Parts: sequence; structure tokens; C-alpha cells
Amino acid sequence: MIQENIDYRDCDRQIWEEELADFVPSKIFDSHIHFFWRSNIVEGVEPIQRDDNNLNTLNQWAKVLYPGRKMQYLILGSPFPGTDVARHIESVRAEIAGVPGIRYNRLVTPSCKIEDIERDLKNPQFIGLKPYRTYSVTGDIGQCRIHEFLPHEQMEFANQHSLWVTMHLSRWHGCADHQNLKDLEEYTSKRYPNIKWLLAHCARSFTYWPIRQAVMRLRDMPNIHYDTSAVTDVRPYITLLTQENPQRIFWGSDGVGAAFFHGHYAALGRAWQHNDADQGGLEFPHCDGRPILAVYEQLMSLKFAVEIAELSKDQVEGLFWGNAANAMGIDNKELATND
Ligand SMILES: [Zn+2]
Repeated sequence: MIQENIDYRDCDRQIWEEELADFVPSKIFDSHIHFFWRSNIVEGVEPIQRDDNNLNTLNQWAKVLYPGRKMQYLILGSPFPGTDVARHIESVRAEIAGVPGIRYNRLVTPSCKIEDIERDLKNPQFIGLKPYRTYSVTGDIGQCRIHEFLPHEQMEFANQHSLWVTMHLSRWHGCADHQNLKDLEEYTSKRYPNIKWLLAHCARSFTYWPIRQAVMRLRDMPNIHYDTSAVTDVRPYITLLTQENPQRIFWGSDGVGAAFFHGHYAALGRAWQHNDADQGGLEFPHCDGRPILAVYEQLMSLKFAVEIAELSKDQVEGLFWGNAANAMGIDNKELATND
């Protein structure tokens, strides 16, 4: 049964059937998707989301978004205010225990102790770390450097154990920021060569600009990968698919809250803004105004970029599944279903 809170419209179905069904392969590894439980928000803080997002929620969504596809996930936590980190991690552990095809990047804040991280990472489903700039020790989420929300002792630990790190870069220019590029160059080539970086949101390039500035340097760094989460502008995909190694690019949706709404991430010059079309008071005087899900906008842009970059069918299958599954050592037999 489909949950009531899944808002899937006829206009979404039309886009799927007419534009996407032939493009999206039969196996999908979503390398950027979030769990959330209201019960893990400490008392006194009002949870930011009304609904929980557990494995059942993700599978229900997958079933309507990508009918008949086999799913795997790299789960991330949610950095919402008031999150009890230990409780959140325990909820994830219990939720995914024994479920094939699921991995988790452990939520870390600068105050997490290495011994706790070490204990949790003994679980083979836990393959990396997910720091968030919202926990920056500087208190400045807009302009912090990597080590200010992922301390060096945690990077040392990740390096020792060859862990993944899903990294949503901070600083105004994201991957185009000189300090971020210098830090990534130092970490990938000298200081922490074993960390496998997964740069979220096309290295946080929601517009054409940051990735065009950075791609020539990023592509020379070892152990750099990109997830596509929440990027709906076609231009960052064109730059990545034509100038980077496509095998370093992994499909990621950023569901539920950040991608399964009707709207997109509007590029406004070099700025961008989350745009929920249901909230904007839009009137559509010139057309039949039926905005589609942001995750479908993402897929449409990726499809156009794939056409421009002339990727092969195998390369497209890699984007959606093989690139991430191979890099993370996930076996074909581990495919979960979304039935
Ligand atoms: Zn996300």
C-alpha cells in the first residue's frame, strides 16, 4: 500500500512514462538519501519534519518514483536541530540490520569521540562518515573549512580505515573556493590518501559556475567522487560528464525532504535557491502549470547531459548503480527490491 504522504501526481507519471522510463536503468543505487525519526529529536525542540523517513518510506517512494527498479541505498543521517546523535545511530543500526544492499555513512559531529565511532564502524554496513557543516566549531555554517566540521582526528581515523566521507562543502563558492580546493588537494594527495570522498550535490555545484571553476583541479585528485543529489540544473551535469571521469559520478536523490517535493533548485546567475512550486504563489498564465517532482527534474537534467556527453548505455548503468556499487564493494547479489 502506498503511504498517504506520498504526493505523486498525474503530471509526474506522465514525465516518468514519456521521458524517464526508457532512461533509468533496472538497478539503482541511491547514494544520497536520508533517514529521520522524530523520536530522535531531544525534548524541547520541535522536529523540523512532520513525518519519519525510515526504510519503509524510502521503499514506498522508490516504488512510485522508479517502478520495478531494484534499489540499494547509501543512507545518511539528518542534521536537524536537536538530533540525539547516539539515538539516531542506534535507530539506523536497528532499521538496516540484515537488509541486503544498504550501507550507512555514520553521522559525525566534532564532539563525537573516536572510540564511539570506532565501535560503530565495526558494523560492516557502516562504511563511512557524514559530517555536517551545521555542526561547525566556528558556528559559521556558511564559511567554514572542512576541518572545522570534520576534525583532523576523525579524518585520521577515516584515513586509517579507508572510509568514505560524504562531504557537503561549505563556503560561499563551494568547490570553487580556493581554500576548499587547497584543503582537498592536501588531504587527497598527502595527508589522508585513503579517505574516499563523495562530494555531495555535484561538489555543491547547483549552478554552472563552481564546478566549471574547479573541475580541472578536482579531476586530478585521487579518491574524489560526486553524488548528483538535489542538483536540478543541467549545466553542472554537462560539465561533470564531459570533463570528469563518469565512473566517479554516482546517482543520489537527496530524498525525502530535499528532493521529493514539486519544484526545483533554481539557478539565479551564480546563486541558487530551493524553490517549492507549491509555496511560491505561481500563476502560470502562459502554460498548463503542473510542476513536477524535483527528483524528476534531476533525472531530466541528467538525461539531457548524458545525451550531450554521448555516454553509452553501460556508462548510464554505471551512473545509476555500478559506479557506486563497485567502488563500495557491494555485490550484485545484494540487490534489494522495492516490492
Ligand atoms: Zn542530503
